[in-house]
Amino acid sequence: MKKIWLIIFVLLLNGLTFAKQTTKHAKHKAPVLNPQVELQKLIDGNKRFATHHLKHPDESVARRIQLARKGQHPFAIILSCSDSRLPPEIIFDEGLGDLFVVRIAGNIADDAVIASIEYAAEHLGASLLMVLGHEKCGAVNAAIANQREGHISALVDAIHSAVEDVQASQGKKQADDSPQFHEQVAKANVKTVIGRLRASEPILAHLIAEKKLMVVGGYYHLASGKVSLLHD
Ligand SMILES: [Zn+2]
Repeated sequence: MKKIWLIIFVLLLNGLTFAKQTTKHAKHKAPVLNPQVELQKLIDGNKRFATHHLKHPDESVARRIQLARKGQHPFAIILSCSDSRLPPEIIFDEGLGDLFVVRIAGNIADDAVIASIEYAAEHLGASLLMVLGHEKCGAVNAAIANQREGHISALVDAIHSAVEDVQASQGKKQADDSPQFHEQVAKANVKTVIGRLRASEPILAHLIAEKKLMVVGGYYHLASGKVSLLHD
């Protein structure tokens, strides 16, 4: 009789240890994300921001503690311009641990930017990457005007091909300073950057081919607060 109780006790103990290990494992595993669902989350968040129906999710003390203990698993990566008028967490109404944000003037993709995106996609499991350009971008202005003081020439060089593409598509010999031309260059620059990221070996190109990462383009309108999706 005693032997039976001992066997039951050992079985229960094993069961408990297994359950504990499973929970521990789940704690560190990145959730499986669907980029279409994550894109809808961004669209919904931007709609709340633009219509001023903000939810301010994931800003609680509990969320802070959870992220500190369990680590981060942001659902999207945003490569945006550094312009102070479009902080991604605000314009998409998201909170702590939701977005992995890489910001650089002109939302260009140099090696350090690509390395940051690789880290978020490969190690943190983010499944969606949005490259976000915007209206009245100073870096785009500098590229159109070919301003080269200080280190700005690095940005101008990165955006220059977008200026040339738009000029060629319009059959123009020179860039113009109209808002329409500016908007077209900003959008062309987003597409050029997306092309560079999609072709980036060995990590991003591989993740995209395996459908583990989706890349989309966006364009932010300053006054309305709306993000338009740019289609290929
Ligand atoms: Zn900008």
